[in-house]
Amino acid sequence: MSDPARWSPRVAAGVLAVALVFTIAVTTPWHLIDLPKPDAALDFTSAEIARQNAFRHEILPWSTTSWVISLVVPLLVGFTPLGGRLYDGLRIRPWFLRVAVLVAGVGLIASLLTLPTDVLAERVSRRYGLSVSPWGLWLRDRAVNWLLSALGLAAIVIVLMALAKRWDRGWWLPGAIGAALLVLGVSFAYPVLVEPRFNHFTSMPAGALRNDFLKLAAQDGVPVQDVLVADASRRTTALNAYVSGFGSTRRLVVYDTLLKNTPPAQVRLVVAHELGHAAENDVLHGTLIGVLGTAFGVTVLRLLLGARMGDPRRTAAVLALIAAGTTLGSPVQNLVSRKIEARADYHSLKLTNDPKDFVAMQHDLAVTNLSGLDPARWRYWMFADHPTAPERIAMGRAWARDNGGAVPPLAKR
Ligand SMILES: [Zn+2]
Repeated sequence: MSDPARWSPRVAAGVLAVALVFTIAVTTPWHLIDLPKPDAALDFTSAEIARQNAFRHEILPWSTTSWVISLVVPLLVGFTPLGGRLYDGLRIRPWFLRVAVLVAGVGLIASLLTLPTDVLAERVSRRYGLSVSPWGLWLRDRAVNWLLSALGLAAIVIVLMALAKRWDRGWWLPGAIGAALLVLGVSFAYPVLVEPRFNHFTSMPAGALRNDFLKLAAQDGVPVQDVLVADASRRTTALNAYVSGFGSTRRLVVYDTLLKNTPPAQVRLVVAHELGHAAENDVLHGTLIGVLGTAFGVTVLRLLLGARMGDPRRTAAVLALIAAGTTLGSPVQNLVSRKIEARADYHSLKLTNDPKDFVAMQHDLAVTNLSGLDPARWRYWMFADHPTAPERIAMGRAWARDNGGAVPPLAKR
C-alpha cells in the first residue's frame, strides 16, 4: 500500500463507481404510477400492427448487420496484432498525426463496410415514406458524422496519450478530469455547435400557436426565450421537438414536420413533454452521469493499460476498449433514459390534463415513426431510449384512471 501510483487509480475507480451508481439511483424516477399491462391491440388496428411489423421485418436485418459490423471492426482491429501493424504501416510523423489518421482510418473502414447494409436500410425507410433525404444529403450527413466522431475520438486518444507520455502512470488523474470537463463542455456546446450543422433554425413567427407555447412554458416555470422551427422536413417525416439551453439561452425547438399535419392539441402535448425535461433538469442530471461515467471510464483504461497508454501503437486497442465500454454501458444508459422519458410524459399529462389526446398522440407518433410496438427483449435493452408506444399509452390510461377519467381503446375491432 506504500506506492500511491499503484493504489490510487483503484481507489478512484471504486469511488467513481459508487458515485455513479448513487447518482443514477437517486436521480432516476424509478416509479411514477402503477401501470396496466401494455397492450398494442387496444389502440392499434391489425393493419397498423401489420405495417409496423412488416417495416421492422424488412429493415432490422440490415440495420442490425450495420450495428454488428461497426462494433466488430474496432474490436477486431484493436484486440488483434492488426492494430499495431496498421500503425507501423503508416509512415507519418509526428506520432499524434499518425494516431489521428489511424483513428479516422478505422472509422472510415467501418463506414465503408456498413455502407451497403446502410443503403439497403435507407431504401426500406424511403419505401415506407419515413426518410425523404436526397441521397446526396444522406451521403453528406454520413461524411459529417464520420468526420465529427473521428475528430472527437482522435482528440481524446491523443490527449490521453500525451498525458501518459508526460506522467507515465499518473496520467489518469489529469486525463479523467480533462475528459469529464470535455463532456461538460460538449453537453453545453452541442446545441450551438453541432445542431446547426444538420438543421436550419428560424424563429417561429408571432401568432396564437407561438403565444400558446410561451404561455405553457411560463405556466410550467421554465420560461423560454424563443421558439425555433427546425427544417427537419428536408430529411425526415419523423415528428420531434426539444428544449435546449439554460436560463437566458433556453429555447424551444420544434420540427417543421410537427407543425404541418399534427392536431394542435397533440403539438401542445409534445411541447409539454419537452418542457418536462427542462423542468426536471434532465439535461443537467444526464450531464452529471456522463461526467462521472467518463471519469470512471478513463480510470478503468488506466487499470487495464497502465503506462502502455503512452504508446501510440496501442491506438487501436484504446479504440476497441472505448467501443466495448460504450456498448456495455448502453443498456444502463437506455434504462435511465426510458425512465426519464416516462417522467416527461407524466409531466405533460399533469401540465395539460389531456390524457385522451395524449393516447391519440402516442398512437399517431408510433404510426408515423413506424416505431416497434413490442421489440425483442435484447433490442429493447440495447437500443430503446424511450418506452414503447403501448407502454406510453398505458401511462396515459393510468393517469386518466387516477384522475377520474377513462380513455376508451382507439382500435375498434
Ligand atoms: Zn423526451
